[in-house]
Amino acid sequence: MDLNVIRLSHCQKEIFCFSVPEECPSCGEELRGSRLQEAPVSLPSPLSNAHKTSSCLLVAPAHDNHSREFDGTSDLHTGISNTSGVVYNYTHGGVGRDQTGWERCVSIPLVRPDMFHLLAQWDQYLDRFSDGPMWDPAWHRFDEEHHNCFTFCLQFINSVLAAQGRSSLSRETFTHSFILPRMRRVTKYTTLYQHIQKHRYYMVDRQEDGQEDTPDKPGFF
Ligand SMILES: [Zn+2]
Repeated sequence: MDLNVIRLSHCQKEIFCFSVPEECPSCGEELRGSRLQEAPVSLPSPLSNAHKTSSCLLVAPAHDNHSREFDGTSDLHTGISNTSGVVYNYTHGGVGRDQTGWERCVSIPLVRPDMFHLLAQWDQYLDRFSDGPMWDPAWHRFDEEHHNCFTFCLQFINSVLAAQGRSSLSRETFTHSFILPRMRRVTKYTTLYQHIQKHRYYMVDRQEDGQEDTPDKPGFF
């Protein structure tokens, strides 16, 4: 998914494509910049390079299918980035500190950019937490269901919440309010992308405003 999806409006239609077509696929009128009701807008991809993020929660396809595109059903792997884009993630072998391999994933910012105090301590928190016996294969076994990459991320987030005197998140809240809405957005975007690849454009009746996804909050903490 390397091309940019753009959206343009014409004759009460919204047209999604990779480049402005010669003529409107709906009415056949020639499309030049001047004839468009408004300038085409570029839709941001829901996937980004985790190694360019700071203090984010990351969701990627599981390691054994890194080469595959998100299709909404593949297993997910989660991790947390430090302030230089190193991704801490828990697997059978303990906590990995990955500098590559997370180039295409969903990034959910955890720390508001004005939380200087927390940001200054983030890397240290993450290191100390990752060195704990909970994640040491000699002390505690990885379990696909109950002690996995999600557990690591959730418990880390909860340890930061606890340090701030806030109550902890349940696994359900974590999954339903953090992970799933973003994954639905990825699935939607992927479906749109594949449709355009196959048919050159995707067209719907123009919606009045109010259909936009609400943008991500700038940080959880
Ligand atoms: Zn038209």
